[in-house]
Amino acid sequence: MLIENVKEVEKHIQAACERAGRSRDEVKLIAVSKTKPVTDIEEVLSTGILDYGENKVQELADKYEILPKNIHWHMIGHLQRNKVKYLMGKVAMIHSVDSLRLAEQIEHEAAKADTVVNILIEVNVAGEESKFGTTCEAAIELVRNVALMPHLKIKGLMTIAPFTENPEENRVYFRKLRQLSVDIKSKNIDNVDMDELSMGMTGDYEVAIEEGATMVRVGTGIFGERNYQI
Ligand SMILES: *Cc1c(COP(=O)(O)O)cnc(C)c1O
Repeated sequence: MLIENVKEVEKHIQAACERAGRSRDEVKLIAVSKTKPVTDIEEVLSTGILDYGENKVQELADKYEILPKNIHWHMIGHLQRNKVKYLMGKVAMIHSVDSLRLAEQIEHEAAKADTVVNILIEVNVAGEESKFGTTCEAAIELVRNVALMPHLKIKGLMTIAPFTENPEENRVYFRKLRQLSVDIKSKNIDNVDMDELSMGMTGDYEVAIEEGATMVRVGTGIFGERNYQI
């Protein structure tokens, strides 16, 4: 069943790439496995997908221990500073860096662990009250400050678009994130890459790809509905 889901999502990704005149290998599919059991991940692993997204530190660390070490784990959820240390050595990328204080904590732990952590700056493009992320206006200043940290490597930007039934409504936000990344790139800040745009979820990843996403985070579309009661 999950293998069928992956095929379906893959078909939609390819179609979106074609519509946008992009090559399929410009877009990485991150399977968002939060709340889902290891057996489900093993099934999806059999399709060759190696990138998985989690939003809780404990859950990511537990799954890291159990599952094959060639998996690339992506921390996509809001991150508390006191939990940062448990991610060192386990994550390929932290998508949710939205404050200087959080960045400083990651820098501190990464230095201790003698490692460099790849990060994205999370931007609340739509300005939703309920969402984490820096504002577009504050993003450049945050990038400038984080760029000075030797154990952090900025790879790009991430956003969580509003929940909507109509993905077309989110096109404007994806476009805005892409424009922000172009603006930041043009400033040629040392130690800053703007190659990655992590945007698009189950409801809107095709529109996100049309607007330049390089990473889409698909949970429900691959693993099915989540049951938070369990
Ligand atoms: C849960 C989650 C997703 C996946 O959401 P779906 O709608 O199930 O695809 C993507 N990004 C973030 C940050 C999430 O927390």
